[in-house]
Amino acid sequence: MQRQSRDHFDASTIPDDLAPIATVLSKMLPGDWRSLRPVIDRRKCVKCSLCWLYCPVQCVTEKPRWFEFDLAVCKGCGICAQECPQRAISMVEETGR
Ligand code: SF4
Ligand code: SF4
Repeated sequence: MQRQSRDHFDASTIPDDLAPIATVLSKMLPGDWRSLRPVIDRRKCVKCSLCWLYCPVQCVTEKPRWFEFDLAVCKGCGICAQECPQRAISMVEETGR
């Protein structure tokens, strides 16, 4: 009688370096692809902390007299600028990439 099934594939026969590019972990931070960045006018900031509250990636940190953005993590969505009651945050274009 003819055999109906094949042996199971032996995954241990696949070489470790078959696709080296796909196995290198590349951390893609938003700061690498963001097109806009938030810039704060420190004279206008009243430290209400709404930017800190609304930032979806929690990259706003408190400084003694204003709030600052971690630009490696900020994705440039502009929510902080939209929510700031003092209009202290402007979104400016990223340059030099
Ligand atoms: S929302 Fe505006 S005023 Fe409030 S802390 Fe942030 S930058 Fe300052
Ligand atoms: S632009 Fe978006 S991600 Fe960046 S600090 Fe403002 S709310 Fe957060």
